[in-house]
Amino acid sequence: MVKPKAVIWLVRDTIRLADNPALETAVSWAQTAGASVIPLACLEPRRWLDQQFGLPRVGSHWTQFRVESLLDLEVQLSEFGSPLWISSASPDRALDEIAQGFHVVGVVTDLPLATEERIENAQLVSEGYAVRALETDDLFRMAQMPFELDALPESFTRFRKAVEKAPAIRPNAPRPVPTFLSTSEPLWPRPVEWDEAVASLTMASDSRFAGGRRAGLSHWSNYLASGALSTYKATRNAFMGEHVWSSLSPWLAHGCLSVREVWADILAYEARVGANESTYWLRFELLWREYFRWYARATDWTLFRKQGPEGREVPGDFNRDRFVQWRDGLTGSDIVDASMRELKATGWICNRARQLVASHAIYESGLDWRLGAAWFESALVDHDVASNWGNWAYIAGVGADPRGGRVFNLEAQADRYDPEGVYRRRWLS
Ligand SMILES: Cc1cc2nc3c(=O)[nH]c(=O)nc-3n(C[C@H](O)[C@H](O)[C@H](O)COP(=O)(O)OP(=O)(O)OC[C@H]3O[C@@H](n4cnc5c(N)ncnc54)[C@H](O)[C@@H]3O)c2cc1C
Repeated sequence: MVKPKAVIWLVRDTIRLADNPALETAVSWAQTAGASVIPLACLEPRRWLDQQFGLPRVGSHWTQFRVESLLDLEVQLSEFGSPLWISSASPDRALDEIAQGFHVVGVVTDLPLATEERIENAQLVSEGYAVRALETDDLFRMAQMPFELDALPESFTRFRKAVEKAPAIRPNAPRPVPTFLSTSEPLWPRPVEWDEAVASLTMASDSRFAGGRRAGLSHWSNYLASGALSTYKATRNAFMGEHVWSSLSPWLAHGCLSVREVWADILAYEARVGANESTYWLRFELLWREYFRWYARATDWTLFRKQGPEGREVPGDFNRDRFVQWRDGLTGSDIVDASMRELKATGWICNRARQLVASHAIYESGLDWRLGAAWFESALVDHDVASNWGNWAYIAGVGADPRGGRVFNLEAQADRYDPEGVYRRRWLS
């Protein structure tokens, strides 16, 4: 029997149909090959069941957001008559199962950010699958850059200046959803893990974020309508308050929103309402995200070793008592304790809080910085391997910080950014 042909869109951290170069490529590849498109999301065991340093790789906030985002993707796909195939296996195993019933023409997915995804793609290639990996969630494409990946500037400032200076380096305009029809029904039933994760959504969560593209678009349009972007630079270091930051990170980390869409919306806002330091500063922060993405790709496995990409020996251990005190907000430093309690309860803390608690973990609790990064990975709703591990390595002095690490004066920071102690009281009482 001749098997029907299929191109697989392997959904990783880009959970949307719009402005998605991977999906667009899958659709045009399928059209050329006379194949259908199968959208496949794997509940990758390495992520969902795995641990690092004794901590789960994914926690409840991330899982809830991910499941909501995939459910939302199902709704988006249903407009094209397409089901979302969900597997509890790793991509290579899931593809082998699909290959029982289909001739797999090829696989299209995101350009890996870090070592595990790169190995996963290499595994698929070694098994004979044609794999195309695209820059789906980056502002820029490598081909646009004025340097090779192995010559990525060693600091953010040099990277930013290089890309800001070059008129040719502009994010691509966001692309519409490609038209496609795909009705191939999954060859296997829904995994038990998935059903359990969906069922657990009904349980109460303190997270303030709802997963999925529709929730992300609504959040972002409310933020823009509020006008808060015009004062972002002045408010972004606050510990609490409405619209003091953009809170885009969960939707960007799960790929519900495209960073190129956000960039284009900021430019449109500047044209409509007026450009100022604040509107620029949000784009500046998005360049930080961009830098860490290319930095993770350039530094590969060295980003995850204690000496970091810099190969610098640093102190830090895995002392259980000091870790538990830090994790549970019992260090005695009120700004750190408040932040760690907020993190545990909601899966999110602001950038300033992330910097302060990382500084405490490394320089006051004396922990191996990777233990802190692993806890963030487990606790954050917006975990992003490049931003998380890149920022931790930076603060620990083994990453991209030309000053060799950041030690924060916690009391001075608390006095400055939470002068009335409102935030600390909120989480410590
Ligand atoms: C130790 C540590 C760990 C972090 N881990 C993560 C993580 O796992 N996932 C994550 O998305 N961000 C991480 N960040 C970066 C940053 O703290 C968050 O992106 C930001 O707080 C999210 O809130 P926001 O969307 O309101 O940010 P805004 O201030 O509104 O900024 C807008 C966007 O710019 C990007 N951005 C801002 N600051 C940074 C930064 N320092 N590095 C990289 N991108 C940035 C984010 O995409 C963010 O959504 C980490 C920072 C530190 C210091």
